[in-house]
Amino acid sequence: MRALVFDGPGRPLRLMTLPTPVPSAGQVLLQVHACAICRTDLHLLDGALDHPVLPLVPGHQVVGTIAACGPGVDAECLGQRVGVSWLGGACGACAACRDGRENLCPDARFTGYHLPGGFADYTVAAADFCTPLPDGPTPAELAPLLCAGAIGRRALDLAGAGERLGLYGFGAAAHLLTQLARLEGRRVFAFTRPGDAARQAAARTLGAEWAGGSDQRPPEPLDVAIIFAPAGELVPLALGAVAPGGVVVCAELRMTDLPRLPYELLHGERVLRSVAHVTRKDVERVVTLASHAPLRASITAFSLDHFGDAFAALRAGKISGSAVLVP
Ligand SMILES: [Zn+2]
Ligand SMILES: [Zn+2]
Repeated sequence: MRALVFDGPGRPLRLMTLPTPVPSAGQVLLQVHACAICRTDLHLLDGALDHPVLPLVPGHQVVGTIAACGPGVDAECLGQRVGVSWLGGACGACAACRDGRENLCPDARFTGYHLPGGFADYTVAAADFCTPLPDGPTPAELAPLLCAGAIGRRALDLAGAGERLGLYGFGAAAHLLTQLARLEGRRVFAFTRPGDAARQAAARTLGAEWAGGSDQRPPEPLDVAIIFAPAGELVPLALGAVAPGGVVVCAELRMTDLPRLPYELLHGERVLRSVAHVTRKDVERVVTLASHAPLRASITAFSLDHFGDAFAALRAGKISGSAVLVP
């Protein structure tokens, strides 16, 4: 099979021919149809994630068909279309797992980081961590839901029920979350890089009632805000934009240090919190919604051979929506 292999920070990804993996106990072999690229993949390549299991095939928004079952897996699942997300394993026994917060399991294993990922023709995954996918949307449309969609879902749940929702950083996750929030009847206010008129227009097209630069104040105070950019300097701006009692959620896995934070920005019972990873439930909820609601990722597809173009376009901010590798 062909696979993109990561040998360590500062070394370029290589397209290689590897033996097709064999599923071990509890695992399935997936023929990959699409795998979306996430900003976390860029963080991994840049060395911002500690102790990846090397050499590694990255990619954690995997859509595939079950092509073989390892020992202990019911062969009835053969041929099923499933998704594999960032959470590739958890202990199932610790307090966090028992409490429905497997994303916080200290023994959690992540796809395309500790476990083999989906930038390949085939990959293996724990059968229990494969999410059945609905018919209808294409593999490339479904792939971004598995992380960008699921993390948005989780962030929105943690933000609470506020009607006026601010989204800072308008990439793959905000793209999907704008649609999802509109379906819930929320009002969306989109904040992009200052002067990025194209993205502001895209946000309005998706249903944002206002779009502007992150340096601007929204036309009215927000109830909740979610930050999808790795920039700590957005935190005081978002706190300043939410009304008393408002919630600001930082949804990036890595973020630069927060600047000095005057207490008056937090006072008034404002809440600042982060979101860490996703649970299987988060993934399930968002893919189930895609089966019957108009929730569609805007995608730019690249073949595995053109992976270099895909990563370069993503880094340059040239992708509106998600970049997806299609073997
Ligand atoms: Zn991700
Ligand atoms: Zn656990």
